[in-house]
Amino acid sequence: MRAAMLHDFTRGPVLEDVTVSAPRAGEVLVRIAASGVCGSDVHAVHGKANVLKNMPMVLGHEGAGVIEEVGEGITDLKRGDPVVIAMYGPCGLCGTCSSGKLHFCEGPEMRSVYGEMPDGSTRLSLNGTPAYPFVGVGSMAEYAVVRRSMIVKVKPDLPLDTLCITACALTTGLGAVFNVADVRPGATVAVIGCGGVGMSVIQGARIAGATRVIAIDRNPAKLDLAANLGATHCLTASDDGAENIAAVKQIVPRGVDYAFEVVGSKALIQQGLAMTARGGAVVMIGVVPWGEDIAVNAGLMFDRRLLGCLGGHNIPGREIPRIIDLYQSGRLKLDELVGHKYPLTDIREAFANAEKAEDIRTVVTIDPRLL
Ligand SMILES: [Zn+2]
Ligand SMILES: [Zn+2]
Repeated sequence: MRAAMLHDFTRGPVLEDVTVSAPRAGEVLVRIAASGVCGSDVHAVHGKANVLKNMPMVLGHEGAGVIEEVGEGITDLKRGDPVVIAMYGPCGLCGTCSSGKLHFCEGPEMRSVYGEMPDGSTRLSLNGTPAYPFVGVGSMAEYAVVRRSMIVKVKPDLPLDTLCITACALTTGLGAVFNVADVRPGATVAVIGCGGVGMSVIQGARIAGATRVIAIDRNPAKLDLAANLGATHCLTASDDGAENIAAVKQIVPRGVDYAFEVVGSKALIQQGLAMTARGGAVVMIGVVPWGEDIAVNAGLMFDRRLLGCLGGHNIPGREIPRIIDLYQSGRLKLDELVGHKYPLTDIREAFANAEKAEDIRTVVTIDPRLL
């Protein structure tokens, strides 16, 4: 099959012929219809993702498609079922899963973040040597083999080249609002960084009933869209952090209840803390390199919280159907987030477009017969 491969951090993605083996027990083979290009894919191309252990790698982790083949033991899915591939699939059996915290699963299933099956194997190979799917998905390819627990069956007749973005941008952004912060009606919110995830935070805050949703970004076009999606105030980001903090406090003098940092910048996390009211919280969604330390003001931390956010603490079978219901009921906008679409053969152009970061989501269309 054709797949967008990454071999190193200088040459960018290349289209190659990759061998995919049959799904084993508990696994499924998905024929991919479309894949979003997430900021993390772009970071991976530049060697800036935290999970780049195994190379070469098939890019993509926002995939939707149809079931092509099911492995032994799977009776609830059949060929042709439309599905979204979730970024991870908890084991359901380990101590943390049993305590209800499935998003912190400690089972070997979590090896999928490095592109491995629980036993360390992979179903992909390139010229006889193993290849690995990015975060266990590898959706910029004609097919993907994933475990059943990563599959969310969706209603038929929905556009798979839109639904694909629910796999990461939407689950992370909405999960940060609903699961991590638990934003309640009447809350005040600032969102620092208005890409795909930030826009999802804005929509989540609107749906949760926040009365002030302050969008902060450098790009005026993104602020226009943020207003369309539910931001009540839009601020053009300044290089001077004190100006950003003062601008937020002009709108909410005591500070916001929640600041969501969606860039992955230590300086912006510090600004978020200074924008936050006593009793409030900063949710760190943007990914700071894992080896680095973040300095925080002890006086601010005395009565505020800094919350980590692992992909929105989402449980795939709960989050993705909820997102699709909100979309179908008109309360969540998805079509507005999808920008240019490129066929898989134009993978390099797709990444160049994503790199410009003008579109909220660039989408790679892989099988037009499924769209
Ligand atoms: Zn992503
Ligand atoms: Zn588990």
